Amino acid sequence: MAAKTLRVAICGGGIGGLTLALVLQKFSKKDVQIDLYEAKDKFAEIGAGLTVWRRTWYIIQVLGLDKSLGEMAIHPPVEEPTPSFTFRRADLPEGYDFHQIVSPYGTATVHRADMLKVMTDSLSNDIGTHFEKRLVSYVQEGSGILTMTFADGTTAEADVLVGADGLKSVTREVLYENLVNDAKGRDESEAQHLQKFIQPTWTGMYAYRTLVDSEKLLKIAPDHQSPKRPILHFGKCGHVVAYPISKGRFVNFVSLVSNPEKEGSRWEGPLVKEVSVDELKRHLEGWEPRIQQLLSCVESCSRWTVCQNRDIPYFASRNVALLGDAAHAMTPNLGAGAGQAMEDAYVLGRLLVHDSVNVENVRNALDIYDIVRKPVASKVADLSRMCGNCYDFHYVPDSISKAGIEVESAEGMKLLCDFIYSAWSFNWTGTPEDEWVQAEKMLNSSAHGGVTVQTQETPARL
Ligand SMILES: Cc1cc2nc3c(=O)[nH]c(=O)nc-3n(C[C@H](O)[C@H](O)[C@H](O)COP(=O)(O)OP(=O)(O)OC[C@H]3O[C@@H](n4cnc5c(N)ncnc54)[C@H](O)[C@@H]3O)c2cc1C
Repeated sequence: MAAKTLRVAICGGGIGGLTLALVLQKFSKKDVQIDLYEAKDKFAEIGAGLTVWRRTWYIIQVLGLDKSLGEMAIHPPVEEPTPSFTFRRADLPEGYDFHQIVSPYGTATVHRADMLKVMTDSLSNDIGTHFEKRLVSYVQEGSGILTMTFADGTTAEADVLVGADGLKSVTREVLYENLVNDAKGRDESEAQHLQKFIQPTWTGMYAYRTLVDSEKLLKIAPDHQSPKRPILHFGKCGHVVAYPISKGRFVNFVSLVSNPEKEGSRWEGPLVKEVSVDELKRHLEGWEPRIQQLLSCVESCSRWTVCQNRDIPYFASRNVALLGDAAHAMTPNLGAGAGQAMEDAYVLGRLLVHDSVNVENVRNALDIYDIVRKPVASKVADLSRMCGNCYDFHYVPDSISKAGIEVESAEGMKLLCDFIYSAWSFNWTGTPEDEWVQAEKMLNSSAHGGVTVQTQETPARL
């Protein structure tokens, strides 16, 4: 008897959802129906620049997108050690460079719109793309079939739903509300614990984002370095990231302001807001001339309230999986959120189209995804948070405090750089293939009569 078609619905056509569609498209050898539902009327990224590291570039290569993206990226990764970010102290009347990161493969910087274009150009016509389909809820019947309801009143069915719907994921909301309801009566403290993950929390950070025209900047400051190379400007209670994109035409300028005492609180109101340039300037008063020169070229800017889903206990439940920011929105301090969304997509996509996976046992594959990806993404989120605290001098690593050294001394700053380098090195160590190999081993062992993953690892969700 022919195997039943596995119907996969991807909710959200951002970088994570699109990567999943491309991975499914590339590796699918069997009957898999892919439908992508996007709330907006087209694929569109907000925000401008994106740093892309070796681990992420690996997926771009596997998907065959490296040539087209390489033509648009600044410094596409090369194998030998390559200079990437310069570290600079900038919250003083005179700034100074204090470290140069040199790492295998360096850092590629791309415009998000370019990344999206390369991805959407590669989508096959076999993938059903549905715009203006904002998911508002889903239910899973006893038979396993999922019915999704959209804001326009229409519905659709699938065997698997992947919520790639970003920070304010409706998929996550429904999934965790269901988990809370299941836990109520059985274990009240578990229900209260799960309740915390329905909505994201504030990191205490704002990110002011804008683009600076390089030509304009170089007219007033001909030796300014930001149009040429990525620079991370350290300061107390905030840092500035500036790097060239669009072949150097623009500088992607992000100023992060941190209030660690606010971390974990709930944010009410819009997450992204157009604000006056004066508001940004106020945060950077007293910073060095290079920052003031950048600011003098800023015409408009938006303020992003940076939220996170920290330590979320499950990335999957029943026939629904969460991917990217829906599962693990994190601080942007490691430039790794989109990369992690793509790693999720790589592992999940390969699991879903594996020869041994079908409509009947697909939950097992989703549980393996959860087990393999959750620790990695959580680790990256922790590293990212810790790095941000280092750039803003909120956190002093033990290597400095135990040695009784002032962090702002030359020796202290050197140790700080060593600490940050070791956190960043995740970005260029190994590839997501290692995670896939681990996932495939687990899949094979359960397919050959090994103990199924659900009963071993995830009893709470059954
Ligand atoms: C200031 C800043 C700088 C960053 N810099 C970097 C960086 O340099 N490198 C990096 O790797 N990461 C970076 N990140 C993180 C990165 O932007 C995110 O992690 C990444 O965009 C997440 O992708 P995603 O596909 O999971 O979610 P999103 O990009 O949020 O996409 C979600 C998609 O789902 C759609 N959607 C939402 N709700 C629904 C619904 N109910 N129904 C249907 N569709 C829906 C949305 O319209 C959107 O298209 C940065 C983040 C910030 C805030």
